[in-house]
Amino acid sequence: MKILVINCGSSSLKYQLIDMEGEKVLAKGLCERIGIAGSKMKHQVPEQEDYIVETDMPDHSVAVKLVFDALTGEHGVVKSVDEITAIGHRVLHGGNKFTESIVVNEEVKKVIRECFDLGPLHNPANLMGIEACEKVVPGKKNVAVFDTTFGMTLPEKAYFYAIPKEYYDKYAIRRYGFHGTSHAYVSQETIRFGGLDPEKAKVIVCHLGNGASISASIGGKAVDTSMGLTPLEGLIMGTRSGDVDGAVIQFIANHENKTVDEVLNILNKKSGVLGMTGISSDFRDIEIAAENGDHMAEVALDAFRYRVAKYIGAYVAAMNGVDAIAFTAGVGENDKVTRRLVTEQYLSYLGAKIDPERNDVRGKQRLISTDDSKVKIFLIPTNEELAIARDTKRLTE
Ligand code: ADP
Repeated sequence: MKILVINCGSSSLKYQLIDMEGEKVLAKGLCERIGIAGSKMKHQVPEQEDYIVETDMPDHSVAVKLVFDALTGEHGVVKSVDEITAIGHRVLHGGNKFTESIVVNEEVKKVIRECFDLGPLHNPANLMGIEACEKVVPGKKNVAVFDTTFGMTLPEKAYFYAIPKEYYDKYAIRRYGFHGTSHAYVSQETIRFGGLDPEKAKVIVCHLGNGASISASIGGKAVDTSMGLTPLEGLIMGTRSGDVDGAVIQFIANHENKTVDEVLNILNKKSGVLGMTGISSDFRDIEIAAENGDHMAEVALDAFRYRVAKYIGAYVAAMNGVDAIAFTAGVGENDKVTRRLVTEQYLSYLGAKIDPERNDVRGKQRLISTDDSKVKIFLIPTNEELAIARDTKRLTE
C-alpha cells in the first residue's frame, strides 16, 4: 500500500509518498510560494537528481496537481494515481471534537473550519490541502491526522486552565498540546526500542526544535504536555517565549501603545532565544555566539535548558516516576551538549546518567545513558510523516 502524506502551510505544501511495505519513502518534495510570485516545486526521489519545476501556483489545487503529475510522470515513482491508496493530511487543530485521526467527510471539514480561530495560521491551509486533493483526485480517501489528538487523553486536572469555567463552555479554551504526532510516535518508539512495558511505561519526550514541547505519557497515552491552547505555552523556543506571566502582555501593550494582537505576535515571533539575544532563532547561531563570549547567548541557552529540566521535573512528579526520557527534533537529535547538560546539571537526583560516548551521536535511535543509569535516556529521531502514514493506513484498511 502506498500512502501520500501532505502537510500544507499557507503558502507551502510538503509531501512524501511512502510505501507501507517496508515503510520506505519513494519520493518527497516541497511546493513553495503558492499564491505568491516565483512559485517553485522541488521533487526528490532517492538516488536521483532533484526535479525542479518553476511555474505559477496560484492556489493549492494547482500545487496538488503538480505533485500528482510529478509522482506519476517522467520523474515519477508510480504508473498512475490508482497506485496511491489514500492521502494523510497533517491538521493542526481538531479542537476538543476529535480524539483520533479520522477519514475526512463534510462533517470533519466543518469541524476543521470551526477550529480556524484556534489555529488561525494552520487550519485554513490544512483544509485547503484537503479540498485541493478532493478536487484533483476525486474519490481518493483523505485522512486528517491532528496535532492535538495526543493531548486528548490529558486528565481534567492537566487540561483545565484556572480561569472562569464559562470560557471553556463557550469557546473550548483548555490546554490541547501540539507536536502530538511527534510525541505519539516518539513515545511509542521509545517503548518499542527500549523494550519497555507497552501498558505501563512512564516516558517523557523532549521535542526540542525551533518549536519545542515536552510530554509525559504512560503506555503511550499523554498525561501532560507543555503546549496549551496554542503552541505558545511551555518551553523557551526559537522565537516563542513559552510560559510568561499574562500581566507582561498588559504591561507591554500599555507602555508600548500596542494591541493585544501585536503583543501576541511579539511573544510568538520575536521572543524565545531570538528575542533574548537579538541574534537568531537558530540554536546553532546562539551556540556560536555563546562560545564567542556573548553573555545573553549564554543566558538564553542556560534558560532554555533550565526550562526543559523544570518540565522534566514536573512530569516526573505528574507520573510519580519515570522510566525513560527521549530527546528528539532538531536540537534534541543534534545537540549533545544540551542533552548532557540537562541530565548532568538537573537530573542526577533521579540517578540519571549520560554516557558521553553513547551521547556522541546525531539523528540515530540510540540509548545514550549509562548501564547503571536509573532512568533510561534515548535519542529517538522523530518522523511525523511516517506517523501520519501509519494512521492513514490503519484507517484505510
Ligand atoms: P522545526 O521543525 O520546529 O522548525 P526542527 O526540529 O527542524 O524545527 O529544529 C530546528 C532547530 O534545530 C534549529 O533551531 C537548529 O538550530 C537546531 N539544530 C540543528 N542542528 C543543531 C545542532 N547541531 N546543534 C544545535 N541545534 C541544532
